Amino acid sequence: MADDCIFCKIIAKDMPSKIVYEDDKVMAIEDINPAAPVHILIIPKKHIPSLDALNEDDLNIMGHIQLVASRLARELKIAENGYRLVNNCKEWGGQTVFHIHYHLLGGRPFAWPPG
Ligand code: AMP
Ligand code: ZN
Repeated sequence: MADDCIFCKIIAKDMPSKIVYEDDKVMAIEDINPAAPVHILIIPKKHIPSLDALNEDDLNIMGHIQLVASRLARELKIAENGYRLVNNCKEWGGQTVFHIHYHLLGGRPFAWPPG
């Protein structure tokens, strides 16, 4: 739990959110400003500021996030057409909330490279 971190507050349920999945390691919520018909944030309960701050102790959590993303995509019926799983790392990567998270985006096609 980090002071003044909105995702730590959401995980502690001190701040409301639309929770779509939760277990001992992660929480998945609906993004407040969706960029696609399906836009879920998968957030580890541990406060890790960004991908740049990752270390060996976090491997289990990071693998778990991938599995949760894959399962949620199937449940939300976006797996057949395909989807995008995105991490924005620090300022030039477009990160705005400095508690690591992955965006699960689906329900429409995405171009590559992104704009
Ligand atoms: P990033 O730019 O990768 O750090 O993504 C942060 C995401 O968090 C953005 O897509 C925001 O719309 C989303 N967001 C910010 N505050 C909240 C909140 N209180 N509940 C749900 N999503 C949020
Ligand atoms: Zn946090």
